[in-house]
Amino acid sequence: MDLKTYKKGIIYKFNKLHWNMAKIGREYNVSRQRIHQVLKEWGVDTSYHQKLTILCDNPRCGAVIQKYRSEIERSKNHFCSPKCRGEFGRKNYGKETGA
Ligand SMILES: [Zn+2]
Repeated sequence: MDLKTYKKGIIYKFNKLHWNMAKIGREYNVSRQRIHQVLKEWGVDTSYHQKLTILCDNPRCGAVIQKYRSEIERSKNHFCSPKCRGEFGRKNYGKETGA
């Protein structure tokens, strides 16, 4: 893999897919520390307090929401409201999430 592909892949996964550094490290078979180091070298903001724009995971909604990177890494799905979380839960797992 050439450097350009490597660099593009890592930045894409970090900034667009919001993967955490440990996961990217596993993908490229390098340490989490190495990922952190190269992201800094490339001038990428690695702050966990950075707000990222993502979409509500309820497919019927798709609202644009802003979350901190640390929040995004903590859970798998993100919703604009408890209502969307409830709808998504019922649809996907066939159980009430209790609103
Ligand atoms: Zn929503």
